[in-house]
Formats: sequence, C-alpha cells, structure tokens
Amino acid sequence: MELIEYSCRDLLSWLERGELTAEGLTRAYLQAIHQRDPRIRAFVYVSEVEALEQARRVDEKRRQGQPLGKLAGLPVAIKDVLCTKGVPTTCCSKILQNFLPPYDAHVIERLKQEDAVLIGKTNMDEFAMGSSTENSAFQITRNPWDLERTPGGSSGGSAAAVAACEAPLSIGSDTGGSIRQPASLCGIVGLKPTYGRVSRYGLVAFASSLDQVGPFGHDVYDVALLLEVIAGHDHRDSTSVPAPVPPYRANLEEAVRPLTIGVAREYFGEGLDAEVEQAVREALNVYRRLGATIKEISLPHSKYAVATYYIVATAEASSNLARYDGVHYGYRAKRFDNMIHMYSRTRGEGFGAEVKRRIMLGTYVLSRGYYEAYYLKALKVRRLIKEDFDRAFAECDVVAGPTSPTPAFKIGEKTANPLAMYLSDIYTISCNLAGIAGISIPCGFTKNGLPIGLQLLAPPFSEDKLLRIARMYERETDWHLRRPKLT
Ligand code: GLN
Repeated sequence: MELIEYSCRDLLSWLERGELTAEGLTRAYLQAIHQRDPRIRAFVYVSEVEALEQARRVDEKRRQGQPLGKLAGLPVAIKDVLCTKGVPTTCCSKILQNFLPPYDAHVIERLKQEDAVLIGKTNMDEFAMGSSTENSAFQITRNPWDLERTPGGSSGGSAAAVAACEAPLSIGSDTGGSIRQPASLCGIVGLKPTYGRVSRYGLVAFASSLDQVGPFGHDVYDVALLLEVIAGHDHRDSTSVPAPVPPYRANLEEAVRPLTIGVAREYFGEGLDAEVEQAVREALNVYRRLGATIKEISLPHSKYAVATYYIVATAEASSNLARYDGVHYGYRAKRFDNMIHMYSRTRGEGFGAEVKRRIMLGTYVLSRGYYEAYYLKALKVRRLIKEDFDRAFAECDVVAGPTSPTPAFKIGEKTANPLAMYLSDIYTISCNLAGIAGISIPCGFTKNGLPIGLQLLAPPFSEDKLLRIARMYERETDWHLRRPKLT
C-alpha cells in the first residue's frame, strides 16, 4: 500500500512516533492531487502554500514538545460551502465566484485549533443542490472507481478526494443525503450528525432546518476522530446544542449488546438495484451472526419524504438565496438600466438552472394561496416522518438499509431528468427531515467494481452508539480497505 492509501489511525501513529513529518505527508497528498486530480477533478482550489506552512508549523511544534491537536499534521479537504478566511469560497456558483470570506466557519476554526492541514476546497453541486456534483458551475468530478461515473453529490468533491487518496479526511454537508450518498457511491464512510450537533456558523445556508456539516474518511475510526473535532456547541448558531461531545473513538471497539436493528420494509421497494439489495441483506446477515436481532419495521410515511423535502428545502432555499443580489457579495451583472434590472440580471446570470428551479419552486410553495396547501402541509408530514422514527427507535437501536437505491450512475445519465436525480436520495432524505443521525459505510461492490453503501440511522445525539454499531460490521469485513487503482 502507498502512504496516501492508509487511514488516519496509521498516519497519526507514524506522525506521533516521528517516522513521518506533517510536511512529508502533506507533500505526498499534494503530489497525489497533481497526479490524480486532473482526472478526478475533486478540488476547485488547492491551498498548496498555506498547507505546507501549516504542516511545517505542526512539525515545529512537535519538535519543541508543545502540545498538539487531535489532527496534528493530517490534511483535510473542505467542501466549498464552508467559509474559509482569505481562501475563495464559491459554493461552486458563478454568483460567489471571487468571494473571499473575511472569517472562518466554526468547523474551520475547530480544524485549525486541532492542528489540521487545510489542503483545499472541493467541488460540489451549486449551493449543494444536486446528487451528482454535475450542477457545479465550474467542473465535473469523476468517481475514482469508474471515471465515466459521478461520485454522487452534492459533496462529490469531498467524497472523491478521500476515495482517490488525495486527502485522508474531508468535510461535507448533508441537507438531504449529500454526505451519505456520495460516501456510498465512492466506497468510503460518511456521517451526517444529528441536527444541532455541529455548528452551522460559516456554512453557506441552503435549507437551514436540514443542513448539517459532517465528516468523510476511509473508515469508522477516522470519521469518529473528525466528528470529535467538529462537534460541539457554538453560541453563534442558535440551533447548535450544548450537549457534551463524547470521545467517539474511546469505546469504538466495544460491541453494542444487545443490539436490535430495524429494517424498514419501505427501504426495499421498487427502484432498488438487485446487487445493492443483495449486498445490504448480506450485511444484515453479518450483524445477525454477531448476535443482533433483525426486526422488520415500517416507516409508513417514507413515501412522502421526497415530496416533503422538495417543498421544505426549496422554501428555505428561496429565502436563504435572496441575499445574492449583486450588492452584498460576489457577482454583479455588467450591464443594467436600473436597480431592479441589476438584481434580475445578476441573479439570472449568476445562478445555474437547478438553483433557479429550486428558487422558483420554493417561492411558489410559500406564496399566498399555496402556502397552506404546500408548505404548511409539508411541515405536518415532516412531523409524521419524525414520529415514524420515534416509534422505530422505541424498539430498535438503529434502522438499517441501503444508502442509495443504485450504485454510481453515469455522468449525464440523470441531468435531463430532475425527478430521476431527486429519487437518488429516496433513502437519505427522511433522516434530515427528522433531524436524526445517519452514517453510510462500505458494504460491498457490484460485479463491475462499483462500491455499495449500508446506511444506519440512529436517534438524535447517539452518534457514539451509531459509530460503535458501524464498527462492529467493519471489523468483520474488508470493504473499507479497498482503494481504486489510479496510478
Ligand atoms: N440531493 C439533494 C438535493 O438536491 C440533497 C442535497 C444535499 O444534501 N445538500 O437537494
């Protein structure tokens, strides 16, 4: 195995023992980016100079025997939706091109405090709206397992960066599946924390009641480590919860016993790929062998999740995106006659097609005469979806199923059909509507060598247990050790 292919647990132990320097490690990943990223295109910005400076600072601190942070010397790639002081933050939208935030997001501050090396910003669907990263205004990211296919989205750049071993860790955001779905399609681990677990301060808002920031890594340990760093209360996000952050790695090897896994009937219906279903059922057998009770359950309102999400999320987006007016930041149309004309031309030229579609849908469902019929009704269904999970968690520790109904799809396959694209989040969206925690872990490959992901959903603020349950499976399997051949 090459250095860049190892997981953080190994890399950290070599760094601690002085067998590896942060600078050496950072150079190895920068070299991987130079060699591989022209094909993968995961990064929209590489912080070469700053990353090497940060790495040298970590090495210097270590030489002087100063206390070091939890991520000392580990490169982390950041989805371009998080504000990074002095480093371009575009949301992969023309309207934020050339935007340089004057401050760091809370998550970025935490990474810096723990001595991470911020290696660059990753590609995404514009404003995180999409499931394939094809809605980026700048470039298309390719799946490291098959360059003809998408890495999923919207955090496709962050997932592809880790899968392609261009960074050992990355940060994504998940509003309706944007961490778990690309993790699944790229064969890595991705976790969406409970709503309120990670501060959204400095996260560019898409749908504020659904958005959460979360970690990607090659295995459960790496994701637990990164979650430990980014989770926690922050007074600048009023929805951030002041619950203590458990040391997620401490009890990771402790199996959860007794363990009851709920399998929702609704997650094995029409549209589920046969190979995905088989891999997920095999994974459930692994848990069965480990002594878990597998219980068939029902989440009866699941069939309304996609519709509910596309009302709630677009409503919030239409409001959040009103701020891009050509005055506050970013792009402004060159030619206009008056102020109103300036607004409409700026927004017309600055936003891509999918973002415009969402703004129009969202404005419509909030408008007088339609608000009650759509938005208000969606909020009521959202409550029913949450109550489905409350009932499930009264009898199960987690709910398991496929993360995505299909493995990675071809580039261009769904771009002409927004509904087909929306349906790729059919199993991930409820988790955001209910505000609960979810993880995707590798659970197999198709005959064509495409990764398959297992999704585990858990009650609010039970990430520690969720990670332990994920680790139980990981210990029994070696899917997480595979790396795509990219040399
Ligand atoms: N694919 C979903 C959407 O397009 C979810 C995106 C996300 O989680 N950011 O809205």
